[in-house]
Amino acid sequence: MSSVSVDAWMQEASTVITANAERLTELDSAIGDGDHGTNLTRGFRAVIEALAAAEDELPPGRRLILAGKTLVSKVGGASGPLWGTALRRAGRSVGDAALDGPALADALDAALAGVVELGSAEVGDKTMVDALTPATQALRTAVEAGEPLADAITAAADAAAEGARSTVPLQARKGRASYLGERSIGHEDPGAASTVLIITALGRALEG
Ligand code: ADP
Ligand code: MG
Ligand code: MG
Repeated sequence: MSSVSVDAWMQEASTVITANAERLTELDSAIGDGDHGTNLTRGFRAVIEALAAAEDELPPGRRLILAGKTLVSKVGGASGPLWGTALRRAGRSVGDAALDGPALADALDAALAGVVELGSAEVGDKTMVDALTPATQALRTAVEAGEPLADAITAAADAAAEGARSTVPLQARKGRASYLGERSIGHEDPGAASTVLIITALGRALEG
């Protein structure tokens, strides 16, 4: 059965975020403080370094916890604690097991629960939750229907992209963008956009 390699996921996420950093920062310039691309680029580079320095025997769950801790410590913006908590919770959920379809479904559920607990955003508040929620649901539905993990991840990435697009007409109710009130309408949420990239990266981190 195929599974996700944590190190490959983080490497692919780092690569795609770095390649899209300018776009993420532009989105954040429109409704935030223009640092989302640099925040995540710096954070995921630090994650890659931390994982490279970790022992080879460190199991997948512990690798995710290390990645999450690194994001919390290296990223000052909201996205650091939020994605850091997400990855730590995911790691606790996975434990020593392989990150196969059912484990990934549970891990994403745990990640989303952590983000909601920390930031108390709901779907429709124009945040990363608007992308992560449908992605998590789509992945679970596909895994429980017995679809191959690659297809389940594609479904999750598509759902995340649709969720991110759905943030455009919304008024932000959480985070910096909420300070803009109605002026936040008409722009895609940067955190939802980067969530699409991070979920899509899962599909390039499959092994077995
Ligand atoms: P900051 O706003 O502190 O500069 P970033 O620019 O790195 O941090 O991240 C901004 C993103 O964080 C937003 O686009 C949004 O998706 C997400 N975000 C902000 N606050 C919350 C929250 N309370 N819950 C969930 N996501 C949030
Ligand atoms: Mg910002
Ligand atoms: Mg900031």
